[in-house]
Amino acid sequence: MMSDRPEQTTGASDVNWLRDAEALDAVLAALPEGVALGLDTEFERVSTYYPKPGLVQMSTPDDAWLVEPAAAEGSRLFKPVLEDPFRIKLLYAMGEDLELLRVWLGIEMQGMLDLQIGAALAGWGYQVGYAKQVESVLGVSLDKGETRSDWLRRPLSAAQERYALDDVRYLEVLFVKVREVLESRGLFGALQDESRRMADDLLAQSEPEVYYLRLRGGWRLNPQQQGVLRALSLWRERQCRERDRPRNRVVSDKALLAIADSMPKTTGQLKGLEDVTPVVIRKFGDTLVDLVREGGGETLTREQRIPTPLSRLEQDSYRALRTLMQQVAEQQQVPVELLAPRKRLEEWLRLKRQSPTVPDAIFEGWRGQLTEAYRPELRAIFEHE
Ligand SMILES: [Zn+2]
Repeated sequence: MMSDRPEQTTGASDVNWLRDAEALDAVLAALPEGVALGLDTEFERVSTYYPKPGLVQMSTPDDAWLVEPAAAEGSRLFKPVLEDPFRIKLLYAMGEDLELLRVWLGIEMQGMLDLQIGAALAGWGYQVGYAKQVESVLGVSLDKGETRSDWLRRPLSAAQERYALDDVRYLEVLFVKVREVLESRGLFGALQDESRRMADDLLAQSEPEVYYLRLRGGWRLNPQQQGVLRALSLWRERQCRERDRPRNRVVSDKALLAIADSMPKTTGQLKGLEDVTPVVIRKFGDTLVDLVREGGGETLTREQRIPTPLSRLEQDSYRALRTLMQQVAEQQQVPVELLAPRKRLEEWLRLKRQSPTVPDAIFEGWRGQLTEAYRPELRAIFEHE
């Protein structure tokens, strides 16, 4: 690995470092109106709950900068610029960047466009990595050697600096190409909508109160056991945040499910449950038993329960819907994964349990532009038993 070898770290005079808040604020204050800001972050998360910021990279059509985390922390303008809906921010596969910026600096980014989504809408492949996309669209091949390097160390090596700058240097040109294609097809709004939706979904998922919905297999528990599971999960979310430890280092998913399933009344009854280790019992035994008692008093309503998988009959509808959406996607040259992701297809079909009509969501926004013509086919799927 290049980073193991001693190398010059002070060279590379073309690297623009913003090492303190004043320098960063000067750059942000001078940003011309209407210029998009390219953005990326590097971080580390090995044995902590929260990611540790390592580096922020920014770019405009003419410049690219490396920003010290401390500079971003002390900056007066960084947060307002990122939260300004009228200042476009260009990112590529932005999920983890958004999360880092939210938990680290409390930033709720606005005006962001995820060019990975943009490239997919343009027909250049779904979830293609940045380096590969830059290579195939712009013909520039990037060095990927530093993908896993240590971004917390200082000084960064010249190779790390180069790699980090490359991560933002091509965002603007990529954007120009993406926009050209999407505008010609009337799909630029789709990029804005889908970027927004992705950010909203991530934010909703980060709420500690709803984490239990993601515990695999939890739907098998009865409503009272699910009440326990919810209480246990919420408690664990708070522990992780307080102790800054990953979930599995506090209590594993499997242990939470086993406890909710057997609803122990004493710490003695915790012994022998799957993944409930002696350490867990010693540290949290009493608390867990208390949580079982409290959570067990709350039987979850239908809306609060973990959704069950699709029934056999629903799976038939799923296949029909999936085939139809595939057809729409092909005709309109957008990836079916964006037009109709599996999770959303399932959500839509679950709505059929309450009312057998085509969900409005299928006709909303850019999706509606493409699906409107297929109303009769959709009705056939949703309105028949
Ligand atoms: Zn990066």
